[in-house]
Amino acid sequence: METIIKKGDIEIEQKIMDISGEDFYRCYQCGECSAGCPAAFQMDILPNQINALLQTGEFDKVLESDTIWLCVACFECATRCPHNIDIAKINEALRQIKIRKNIDLFNIWDIIKQEEFPTVALVASFRKFTA
Ligand code: SF4
Ligand code: SF4
Repeated sequence: METIIKKGDIEIEQKIMDISGEDFYRCYQCGECSAGCPAAFQMDILPNQINALLQTGEFDKVLESDTIWLCVACFECATRCPHNIDIAKINEALRQIKIRKNIDLFNIWDIIKQEEFPTVALVASFRKFTA
């Protein structure tokens, strides 16, 4: 996917905080979130690493990661976090930033062509993965 954000973009930092309502600077890297995340085995950047990269302004790396799309918003990380940081909301904000720039994760028409694809999954894919 196209890179849209550069390292250290202050406007993006504010946008992530505004959309998510979360302050990723409060994360102190205990790793509790990643230890309990059911999707961690598929992620290229672990949930705690998302916060570490955001803290160092590596917005481009985070926005290009598979992790933000693989998060299933189960809130396990939020329940385990000693600082009540909700990474599901941060991942949602990161997805929104991409989708608002009309960058879809994939072409939805490729899925529609698959006749066996359940309708509910199709609608969910539209909502989560496309602008
Ligand atoms: S909400 Fe996302 S990041 Fe948090 S534990 Fe669930 S899948 Fe992992
Ligand atoms: S559990 Fe909370 S404080 Fe610990 S690494 Fe995850 S987000 Fe950071």
